[in-house]
Amino acid sequence: MPNTSRHLDHTRRRARTLAAASLAGVLMLASRSGTGAQAPQGAPADLLVRNGRVIDGTGSPARAADVAITGDRISFVGDAGRANITARRTIDARGLIVAPGFIDPHTHALEDLNSSDARRRGNLNFLMQGVTTVLTGNDGGGPFEVARTLEQWKTQGIGTNAVLFVGYGSVRRTVMGMSDARPSPAQLDSMRALVDKAMREGAIGMSAGLYYAPQNYGTTEEVSELAKVAARHGGLYDTHMRDESSYTIGLLGAIREAIRIGRDANLPVNISHLKALGVDVWGRSDSAIAIIEAARGSGQKVTADQYPYTASGSSVGASLLPRWAEVGGGDSLRARVADPTTRARLVADMTENLRRRGGPESLLMTSTRDSSILGKTLAQVAAARGVSPVEAAIQIILNGGSSVASFNMNEKDIEAFMRRPWVMTGSDGSGGHPRKYGTFPKKWAEYVREKKVLTPEAFVRQSSSLAAETFGLEDRGVIARGKFADVVVFDEAAFRDRATYQKPTELATGMRYVIVNGTVAVDSGAFANVTPGVGITR
Ligand SMILES: [Zn+2]
Repeated sequence: MPNTSRHLDHTRRRARTLAAASLAGVLMLASRSGTGAQAPQGAPADLLVRNGRVIDGTGSPARAADVAITGDRISFVGDAGRANITARRTIDARGLIVAPGFIDPHTHALEDLNSSDARRRGNLNFLMQGVTTVLTGNDGGGPFEVARTLEQWKTQGIGTNAVLFVGYGSVRRTVMGMSDARPSPAQLDSMRALVDKAMREGAIGMSAGLYYAPQNYGTTEEVSELAKVAARHGGLYDTHMRDESSYTIGLLGAIREAIRIGRDANLPVNISHLKALGVDVWGRSDSAIAIIEAARGSGQKVTADQYPYTASGSSVGASLLPRWAEVGGGDSLRARVADPTTRARLVADMTENLRRRGGPESLLMTSTRDSSILGKTLAQVAAARGVSPVEAAIQIILNGGSSVASFNMNEKDIEAFMRRPWVMTGSDGSGGHPRKYGTFPKKWAEYVREKKVLTPEAFVRQSSSLAAETFGLEDRGVIARGKFADVVVFDEAAFRDRATYQKPTELATGMRYVIVNGTVAVDSGAFANVTPGVGITR
């Protein structure tokens, strides 16, 4: 992989050079192509955001300040008039909030970023939420061809910055298919080698989705063994847990498992989309928080992210099928459905899983090739077909499946998790669910502006510097001199989501300017058709 290492070495060297340049305050003419540095005394900055109310991401109170940008860095924060700062372009932010670009630690943006369609690569759904950096490859789905992906982003251009996880699921499926067996020593070595390759190529850590097949077949020890490889490279473990409900080891058992993997493999743990899923575990947010805070109190690095919706996004199969039915893959599942004995067991398990998630009214079909069921609940599909909800679910699964919005959370748990200072904003943005277009503005409009669950400063902190610290994204997530110029300017009264479960792809409103690495990507509320994002490596 000579090309790859050269590329990465170059990236690291460049990062070091930049840091050195801004530290020493070396006077150099900045250019759009990179090498941002401090604005030389008297020389104009590229961009000056004036008169805004700056919420800097650290949690400090908002203050009036101007922000100048030179190249891809913030070159000044303060009173520009008094400091005689001039700029080639000035944005008047009077009455607006100026904040660090938001960082989304959990997305499913990989397909968009890799797309040949320039508009999709622009990641506009995220930009309009104020998100300037996405982490992707979560839930165990990340690629191990990290260098190739980074190279593709560099060649084609991407709208936001992006960071990759290597996925435990991708690795296990590559080596063991849909088998539920324990790996042989040779298979375990093959999996280790894939994680190692991805980490060397710049992945930020290993993601897992232990709820899903085939990852569900891996033991805690197996996952720890692979997490150790990520740890050797300074990576972290990001997990969609084995159980967020009462399916197997339970919500609290799954939190303990995640913490144990972090301890055994000696690396930080981030719990993806922390929630109490389903009536059986409603109200357990208190215990979940207590377990996590005990681990944090003992010095372990444990964090979480969360989206502000009562529905999760999943598929009919992942929500209702027992994992034993998926061993071996699709053909094996068909054979089990056709066999009367296994079918009876399957129906019984699916009936229980449906109860757990809130019944057939709680599953809304959001994205499927069968347009006749789109926008209907499982209850409605079953009624229309004159079959039981579980029979309707089996038909849907065998006919290619459907994404669902699964209404399974309650507000009290959502707010309890949200109040914790170690919980980041994370969209888990995926097709068919409004969270992909609305997470950050919804949290702002509903939980900051209306319910006042969070202060504006706490919201910005949870949406920027907390993620930068957690994932080690150097020089991001804060408005301060020398940091990367990922900056958003928004109207606090107008910033809100418009995406709904019926219309999940409505762009958010209220973002006036979104600046990525010094380039204005959203200008006066409109996409500027630019791709200033970079792939960020560990
Ligand atoms: Zn997930």
